Amino acid sequence: MCKASKKSFIPLDILSFRDESRAVIDFVADYYKNIEKYPVQSEVDPGYLASMLPDSAPYSPNSLEDVLKDVNECILPGLTHWQSPSFFAYYQASSSTAAFVGEMLCSAFNVVGFNWISSPAATELECVVLDWMAKMLNLPSSFMFSGTGGGVIHGTTCEAVVCTLAAARDKALKELGGNWENITKFVVYASDQTHFTFQKAAKLVGIPPSNFRFLQTSFATEFAMSPELLRSAIEDDIRSGLVPLYICATVGTTVCAAVDPIAELGKVANEYKLWLHIDAAHAGNACICPEFRHFLDGVELASSLSMNPHKWFLTNMDCCCLWLKEPRFLIDSLSSNPEYLENNASNSNVVVDYKDWQVTLSRRFRSLKLWIVIRRHGVENLMEHIRSDVSLAKQFEALVTKDDRFEIVVPRRTVLVLFRLKPKHGLDGSELNRKLLDTINSSGRAFLTQGVVAGIYAIRCVVGATLTEERHIKDLWSLIQEKARITLLQCSPVSKSDDDA
Ligand SMILES: *Cc1c(COP(=O)(O)O)cnc(C)c1O
Repeated sequence: MCKASKKSFIPLDILSFRDESRAVIDFVADYYKNIEKYPVQSEVDPGYLASMLPDSAPYSPNSLEDVLKDVNECILPGLTHWQSPSFFAYYQASSSTAAFVGEMLCSAFNVVGFNWISSPAATELECVVLDWMAKMLNLPSSFMFSGTGGGVIHGTTCEAVVCTLAAARDKALKELGGNWENITKFVVYASDQTHFTFQKAAKLVGIPPSNFRFLQTSFATEFAMSPELLRSAIEDDIRSGLVPLYICATVGTTVCAAVDPIAELGKVANEYKLWLHIDAAHAGNACICPEFRHFLDGVELASSLSMNPHKWFLTNMDCCCLWLKEPRFLIDSLSSNPEYLENNASNSNVVVDYKDWQVTLSRRFRSLKLWIVIRRHGVENLMEHIRSDVSLAKQFEALVTKDDRFEIVVPRRTVLVLFRLKPKHGLDGSELNRKLLDTINSSGRAFLTQGVVAGIYAIRCVVGATLTEERHIKDLWSLIQEKARITLLQCSPVSKSDDDA
């Protein structure tokens, strides 16, 4: 086709592109159509794959047909089906046709928008979409480009936390005269419910682990961080000659969806001049609905906020929005300007160069996906999406509550229902519930995970896989009841049928 090409093959040929893409789209549509036929959690043993595949790369090309056949036979069995309507584990990875289309376009253009000039649309759309999202969340204009702040799309919350920690560290180092030895004095604060990503990020930016403070939470505050404990920890550290640096507050913790009191924590942060970051990875998505927006009350006192549309915003992996009140601190920390990237636009200081807002240089055109998700659904349907998931979670919670063999462990806030079988026959509740969870998951009919709060082992049910409907909630509850009967009988010292409901 292309005479100038010296290759004997054409890596990107419009004709085969159309045909192959159609074949893959058909494959994907069939996958979704049949998704309920697969065990939700993969049942393969570790190392299953190597024996199914050749031990070295093919010398000659394979046909697409052969490849898809192997995807079917070798890859599908090793998938845990996150898109299954009976997936209730972790926090969901929601998806939509709109996001899929966005991903296709992102792949199609395959631009690398590290600075403005490398693809102006990639940068400018990201700025526009982050302001749209900020307005949907009713954030103050101090977080928007149209105000005095701005935002960036990272791959994950882990990256957002590490970058804001680096910004806070470098700002404080500068204020202390630029001596890097001061890094050993910095102290960071979070609750004992905070995601492990915070610990990882703090280690990555060089904060000594002996200076991590994990403030204890309890049932009394539904596992929210205590502003009083925070204040007294800060005062203790100051008395010891340390330098309080950064607080990571969470809106919707991972184990039990606790919401830290942002307004009160914000007051403490501002009084002692600490960087306050809000990790709203999951529950932040719900804040587009006015009835959940109160989770973010006090956000105007924070320095930065991150949330993951790839969890609950119908946006396929990956997409994490990070907003900052003073992006210059992030840029001061992360920018570098090698000669080979020099250009007039960057020198003019009127453009955003996103390479200075993140760890990596190369970056995907993720805003295209989020923009299409928002446009194709409209705020109206996005709110309905959140509300319908919450309503399904409420239905599940009601079923659990009605059965007196079970109890809710921490009150539900949005779509996470934390529940357990009540301890019985003097049996340890952990053992009972661990067994129950194992039997549920090994049935292949649903997949849930667990969490421990204040020493109590509980089962986490997160409603919100995109395809989940009311019937899947009912099926889940029947499954849980069926397995609970068996588990209670097996665990009973004298197998009596009084456990039967
Ligand atoms: C999921 C989650 C994270 C981690 O998110 P990644 O994007 O995978 O890094 C962090 N914090 C909370 C509260 C979460 O729910």
